[in-house]
Amino acid sequence: MGLVDGPGIRTVFFLQGCPLKCSYCHNPDSQHFMGDKRITVDEVIETANRYREYYDASGGGVTFSGGEALMQGEFVAEAFKALKKNGISTCLDTSGYGVIRHYESVLKYTDHILLDIKHVDEAEHLKLTGRNMDGIKHFIDVLSGFEGKVTIRHVMIPDQTDHYEMMDRILEMVNTIQKKVDKIEILPYHKAGTEKYSQLNIPYKFEMVPAMDPAKAQVYESYINARLETMKIMESEHLKAV
Ligand code: SF4
Repeated sequence: MGLVDGPGIRTVFFLQGCPLKCSYCHNPDSQHFMGDKRITVDEVIETANRYREYYDASGGGVTFSGGEALMQGEFVAEAFKALKKNGISTCLDTSGYGVIRHYESVLKYTDHILLDIKHVDEAEHLKLTGRNMDGIKHFIDVLSGFEGKVTIRHVMIPDQTDHYEMMDRILEMVNTIQKKVDKIEILPYHKAGTEKYSQLNIPYKFEMVPAMDPAKAQVYESYINARLETMKIMESEHLKAV
């Protein structure tokens, strides 16, 4: 059960494997592509149906997260299609790095997207995730044709992304899809779960990075959402004038 993984109460499926290697990843065990459990579309539907009354009461549904769910786009598209056929709302939690040829079919059956923006600067993005920004930029381009809603998320790191310029540049990045963006969540970086690194015997690059003050992150979240709303109003005034 998830309460923060899209609208309402949701059943969340975590798909194994991620092409990114975020320094702060709280689930490093989800990065490799060798999962120990396979499921079918029928099993997804069967599981989801058990919790249907919660979705109906809260406006919830099913979320596919990861790892990176878009890496298994073919399966996600099939599962989302079947969920929609069963009247269950679908949400994709993604960082925008997946198998491109499946994007169109996934988006066709997706109601809501949680899109994680890691960084706005090429060099810093590469340092933080091990990947350049081509993937996220391409995915945002593809979202121009998406008909659902998008919630943007950013994990704020103290002394790295906690500044107003960062907020303004996130807005620039999503400018082309601003009408679909319902809100932007600024998630304070926290240290919970980092013991997994020692259990897996891999170094934790963010050992020395302190947790982000949630109250400060909230100030940035209020700022960026107020600017988003202003931009939307200006855009609709402009369209009326034209
Ligand atoms: S995108 Fe998510 S799962 Fe993948 S490495 Fe980054 S934090 Fe971990």
